[in-house]
Amino acid sequence: MAEILFRPDGDSDRSGYTRRIYARFTQHLAKNGLRLTDQRRRILDYFLQADRHLAQEEIYAALRKHGLGRATVFRTLKMLEECRIVNHVIGKGGTPRFEVNLERPHHDHLICISCGRIQEIRWPKLEDIQEKACRKIGFTPKWHRHEIFGRCRDCSDSQP
Ligand SMILES: [Zn+2]
Ligand SMILES: [Zn+2]
Repeated sequence: MAEILFRPDGDSDRSGYTRRIYARFTQHLAKNGLRLTDQRRRILDYFLQADRHLAQEEIYAALRKHGLGRATVFRTLKMLEECRIVNHVIGKGGTPRFEVNLERPHHDHLICISCGRIQEIRWPKLEDIQEKACRKIGFTPKWHRHEIFGRCRDCSDSQP
């Protein structure tokens, strides 16, 4: 089942979005004296077609046939997070699961402790309350994340 619900804000122009993502990554790599190699490109491509939040091990399992090692996947993920194309959610069992986040609307996650499914959810009213409560005490919020752990609909049916 697809987990990635919220699309980038200007999603009608998918090719422009992909171009912006690649430009950002290439720039970040260049700053670190690195190039966009085929292996790094494969990892980013894999993210762009994914409909789920991906664990590092899944990316490795899917791409190792192309000669990618765990270390390459690990380092590429780190760089994709540094330039804020990708971020991670803590999944079932504490394993980080990654998603492309650039230009996507802010959302939070519901994590099923039985099957590991991650559902995306938006709470505009709750965001508003948080903003106001922070401002009231002079705190400037920059980012946050909510992760709610529990059982998804399919899993609670079988385990009341
Ligand atoms: Zn479940
Ligand atoms: Zn998400």
